[in-house]
Amino acid sequence: MKTCVIYGDMSADSAADQYPTVNLCDDCVAADGRQGENHQIVSKEGYDPDLGDCEWCSTSAEDEAEAKT
Ligand SMILES: [Zn+2]
Repeated sequence: MKTCVIYGDMSADSAADQYPTVNLCDDCVAADGRQGENHQIVSKEGYDPDLGDCEWCSTSAEDEAEAKT
């Protein structure tokens, strides 16, 4: 799980909506890395558990840890 800044709604007024900070699971981060120029992740910021589950596929940190064992 990684906390990432992603491209959001560019027509929004606030920077928080244009570049939301969300949690993404390792699978989604890896998938984004294969998108080339179409990638959605602006930057990776470590991991903040308070932001909850993966924004894209709803995998929780617990699910992710379990999938690795
Ligand atoms: Zn995910």
